[in-house]
Amino acid sequence: MSKPIVAIVGRPNVGKSTLFNALAGDKISIVKDTPGVTRDRIYAECTWLDHHFTLIDTGGIEPDSKDVILSQMREQAQIAIDTADVIIFLVDVRQGLVDADAKVADMLRRSKKPVLLAVNKVDSFQKFMADTYEFYNLGIGDPVPVSAASMLGLGDMLDELVKYFPKDSEDGAEDERPRIAIVGKPNVGKSSIINKLVGENRVIVSDIAGTTRDAVDTDIVWDGREYVMIDTAGLRRKSKIKEELERYSIIRTVSAVERADVVLVVIDAEAGVTDQDTKIAGIAHERGKGVVLVVNKWDAIEKDDKTIYRFTEKIREQFAYMSYAEIVFVSAKTGLRLGKLFETVDMVIQNQNHRVATGVLNEIMTEAVAMKQPPSDKGKRLKLYYITQVSVKPPTFVIFVNDKELMHFSYTRYIENQIRNAFGFKGTCLRFIIRERK
Ligand code: GDP
Ligand code: GDP
Repeated sequence: MSKPIVAIVGRPNVGKSTLFNALAGDKISIVKDTPGVTRDRIYAECTWLDHHFTLIDTGGIEPDSKDVILSQMREQAQIAIDTADVIIFLVDVRQGLVDADAKVADMLRRSKKPVLLAVNKVDSFQKFMADTYEFYNLGIGDPVPVSAASMLGLGDMLDELVKYFPKDSEDGAEDERPRIAIVGKPNVGKSSIINKLVGENRVIVSDIAGTTRDAVDTDIVWDGREYVMIDTAGLRRKSKIKEELERYSIIRTVSAVERADVVLVVIDAEAGVTDQDTKIAGIAHERGKGVVLVVNKWDAIEKDDKTIYRFTEKIREQFAYMSYAEIVFVSAKTGLRLGKLFETVDMVIQNQNHRVATGVLNEIMTEAVAMKQPPSDKGKRLKLYYITQVSVKPPTFVIFVNDKELMHFSYTRYIENQIRNAFGFKGTCLRFIIRERK
């Protein structure tokens, strides 16, 4: 199930960062930036009641001259339009309504994306409520008063926000086609792969009502089966500032990955694996999506009979945290193994949806425990009572034990390996929830 993406847009100093922090609490995912640059906050997982969503920060605006602010605001709004399901447009009751707000509001209105207009710094309803009505003039709906700094009105704002979220049930019924995201740093060959696939297949032009985001989806038929390709390369953004480009590319990746069933992480065989590749793959891993590592430009590599083996070893080392991922060596240029790519995607989707019967799981666990004694601490030994699979996409298991503290990471890993030995589960991570039962 994909989580909605929410972006905050607004002028400098209206309180975007403050709101971000207030909503994200301490669960902010920090994406490690280039060495030397401070760790940057780009997105966070948030929960309101039983709704989960990903909040993205479209980036700061350097308050330079007035026209720079407006052009940067447009840029920021465009990123939000491209990537978010719902946009929070934040204004400042103390600055009042300014021209740049109206221009950005126009842009948001034309995008047809759901927009929630939040008026910040309403620290006292008595004192500032009347001033919020001015923002009706923006023509993007009812202003919702909040105070990010004093956490006022946030509950009401979130109630409004979740009304805009797509309904899960509709999601499933609408479209059963596998959704494949193609991600990777610039120039690894994402567009070339899509173009090659499109060239070799009749493409059905997407008839899903045109939001900007759907425009970058490509429908593909391979071997009689339909797929939706979600491309992060399609929209390119120019910026002289490297950090900004990277932020944008991460936001696009998070958004594409969130909507996908399987993620193809494209790596350039010529350039080798870099930190940025592992960071991008980490986004798919974190979200529990199916993952295939696609080594592209395989045509450009000089090969002997051990080259693939050496490459595989190296990639396994660099992506040690996702040893479950399949690796496929392809060439967008020659079309080498693009068919294998689809076979792999089909297999990964099956594995993501695979359910193992509780009886069988418990047999495996009992046997595993008999073969390798569970850890103990200060005379107390871990006991594993029961295991059951509670969900799919990714397959998630609950293990009931006597004492959570004793369930060491390495022992969970051992149980995971036993399950994988029996069922494979290639291409998908497995999640384990440890519960105590006295
Ligand atoms: P951004 O540039 O939009 O990210 O704005 P910041 O979050 O950095 O906030 C700008 C300034 O407004 C900071 O000094 C905040 O402390 C202040 N601020 C943020 N939210 C509120 C609020 O609800 N009430 C008041 N009075 N000040 C706020
Ligand atoms: P993107 O930024 O990830 O979408 O990368 P592009 O698809 O634009 O490709 C970047 C460059 O790599 C272009 O010059 C392509 O011609 C080249 N390229 C892409 N795929 C292959 C491949 O399979 N083999 C070779 N030799 N070059 C490739």
